[in-house]
Amino acid sequence: MNRTFITILLLFAAVQLSAQDMQADVPVIMPQPPAGRLEVTYIANSGFLLSSGPTRVLIDALYFDGDIWESPSKKIQKAIISGDIPFKNITHMLASHYHADHFDAALTSRFLVNNPGAMLITTAQTDSLLQKVYRQDPELKRPKQTRIIQTPMFGTETYESGDLKVKCLMQRHMGKDDFKVLNMGFLVGMGGKKILHIGDAGWTEENFAGFNLPAENIDIAFIHYWFLLDCEGRQIIENYIKPKKIVVTHIPYDDLRRNYKRIKEYYPDVEVFLNHLEKKIY
Ligand SMILES: [Zn+2]
Repeated sequence: MNRTFITILLLFAAVQLSAQDMQADVPVIMPQPPAGRLEVTYIANSGFLLSSGPTRVLIDALYFDGDIWESPSKKIQKAIISGDIPFKNITHMLASHYHADHFDAALTSRFLVNNPGAMLITTAQTDSLLQKVYRQDPELKRPKQTRIIQTPMFGTETYESGDLKVKCLMQRHMGKDDFKVLNMGFLVGMGGKKILHIGDAGWTEENFAGFNLPAENIDIAFIHYWFLLDCEGRQIIENYIKPKKIVVTHIPYDDLRRNYKRIKEYYPDVEVFLNHLEKKIY
């Protein structure tokens, strides 16, 4: 090895070191909304991303094909799984129930592998689909990243981590055909806001009366389309939820124009996200 080559090598090492020093001094700028401000991004159907400071929570947002319901595009699915922008540093994934327009076990298992800092919160029923994936490929198992809520029907269990508090509400899915489907409502506290996401909960008194939700002063309730169009559903909202703002979820494609106006008759301030990745700040 000649002397000139050694000098070049040493110079190169010095430049590398000083570049590292400079990097250490420069603060890493992350595209996060500051705490105290809640950013809501629409994914598809009932799927949303809630962000406040470092807390970034996906709800019902990762699934493959929702059949007649809106689904995240392949590009969005891939970005969520890989943790690419705008889905970098997701801290939590909440899944209300296992239906294919809210959850997909294979995609979720890949998400957990690629995002070791993320925690999945869901029911044992939804987790049983993940267990099927793990039986095929045990290396995908991530038990430390999964919090299974075991509370009985109409019970609650609270999960806390940093700024985030999630009160899980065990409920029945809407409709007679899905009577046995466990649906978990989520009362999320983050960024100084209270958010309720009810998944596909039925609009029955037994599903809501026991939770004393009016005392929670809910800022935003994510409520599905049928709940808002049904007379009983509207009474449940008035008596048992009392949110300051409502965001409509699970809107059928074709009916959007016709029934969105009908919902507006009852709730003039209701909010609708029409485009995937559309953002609103609260
Ligand atoms: Zn469902």
